[in-house]
Amino acid sequence: MPNSSAQVTSAAQLSDKFKASQRIDVVQIATPSAKIHVREQKGVFQRLRQYSNTLLIALFFLLPFINYQSRQAILFNVTEQQFFFFNLTLWPQDFTVLAWFFMAAAFALFFVTVYWGRVWCGFMCPQTAWTFIYMWIEAKIEGNHHHRAALDKAPWSISKLRKRLTKHTLWIVFALLTGCGFISYFMPARELYIDIFSASSGFWIGAWVWFFAICTYVNAGWMREMMCLHCCPYSRFQAVMFDANTKTVSYDAARGESRGLRKRAEKTELGDCVDCNLCVDVCPTGIDIRNGLQYECINCGACVDACNQTMEKFGYAANLISFTSEKTLKGQPQASVFSLKALGYASALLIMIGLIIIDLNQLNHIQLNVIRDRQTLYREVGVDRVENSYQLKIRNKTQQAAVYQIEVFSDEMPTFTIVTDTVVQIKPGEQLDYPITVSSRRSERVDDTSQQTLQFSVTQINNAASPTPITPLNQVTQKSRFFWP
Ligand code: SF4
Ligand code: SF4
Repeated sequence: MPNSSAQVTSAAQLSDKFKASQRIDVVQIATPSAKIHVREQKGVFQRLRQYSNTLLIALFFLLPFINYQSRQAILFNVTEQQFFFFNLTLWPQDFTVLAWFFMAAAFALFFVTVYWGRVWCGFMCPQTAWTFIYMWIEAKIEGNHHHRAALDKAPWSISKLRKRLTKHTLWIVFALLTGCGFISYFMPARELYIDIFSASSGFWIGAWVWFFAICTYVNAGWMREMMCLHCCPYSRFQAVMFDANTKTVSYDAARGESRGLRKRAEKTELGDCVDCNLCVDVCPTGIDIRNGLQYECINCGACVDACNQTMEKFGYAANLISFTSEKTLKGQPQASVFSLKALGYASALLIMIGLIIIDLNQLNHIQLNVIRDRQTLYREVGVDRVENSYQLKIRNKTQQAAVYQIEVFSDEMPTFTIVTDTVVQIKPGEQLDYPITVSSRRSERVDDTSQQTLQFSVTQINNAASPTPITPLNQVTQKSRFFWP
């Protein structure tokens, strides 16, 4: 057994070396034309995958059923243009918070990638999780990878037809559930499932559910690893985040080569790789990790579990394939925990989190839009008084009914008064279109300009009798103009 630190071949060298050899016939499996029948594998990482994927799928389906204050806690209400997240309500003008959130999520992913490579792909990506479920259903109906491959080649028979029909029916049912699950973030979940499964939904709701169901069926049932290999942009640029300290699934070539078949307990000069091919058989993307780092590897750890199983059988040390870094493989010390890249991504992540907090703290609970009366610039009342009319569009952005006080003031001339009622009540989430008249006296006019700037303010108060502002953020102002004859 060679010393693991004696010689280390880099990923690129390894790749070249094995592409030139006869041993890479397994790589052909990854071509789009060949179907991969993944061998089932048990082990630590597969258990972890099972837990993380189950958690992800359970959260996806159950979150829309959580209620908060008598309504769905998480809901993108497209028709009313509101996004509810527990006690937070976001309106289109507040969507910068969502933009920061998605950017924070991207930087968090980059940060994790610096340390753990594509661990997201293997353990938390929805594409992988749904493929995992579809493969599980397939294995339950058609049997293990040998049976599935044999069934593919077998001529059509009643048994084959029955198995295929059962599999595709279950796939379609799960796809339909997924379509409902997705749309239930956009409309009340309980009604949606009942409407879809009793065929009483409206045309567009049904169309969207079926659209996402078909996408799921095609992606997880048919495309599977092709999505990771050919469609996922992350697989193409993830290498930018890698460095020699990144822990990815790697084959210890110095220890494993030269590989070769042998009997258990047989004395040999060969390396530890017994060439059992299990690491290839269990790979969902059909690659041979012994060829070095490849963009197709989703870091699922199946080959680690498979190889450790073989190592145990042959009495060799574990982790011939493991989550490790290039530096560790070369016997070099791992760099400090904080690399420059990691610090950069962490700083960007912290900035995004800071922006989310600032934006959330500045979210105003009232929306105000002041529109001047376009028909009449001004109205003369008696000899001295002049009036202007406005339409105030006041929206209560909270989920509780609220009372508001309307005021008008001007730095240029402090004598504007509102003629109409100044206290209004608005239902949760509703917009009030409120006509208002502002009056002033010609005799109090400070100069000869034909118009003056004034400012409307709308403040949420406890009630009309006690006009105390609830919080400073529950006040909004907007400028407009007052016209004189
Ligand atoms: S090489 Fe290993 S870790 Fe990478 S995708 Fe294949 S089985 Fe998963
Ligand atoms: S599973 Fe391990 S021993 Fe078997 S072929 Fe792969 S690397 Fe070699």
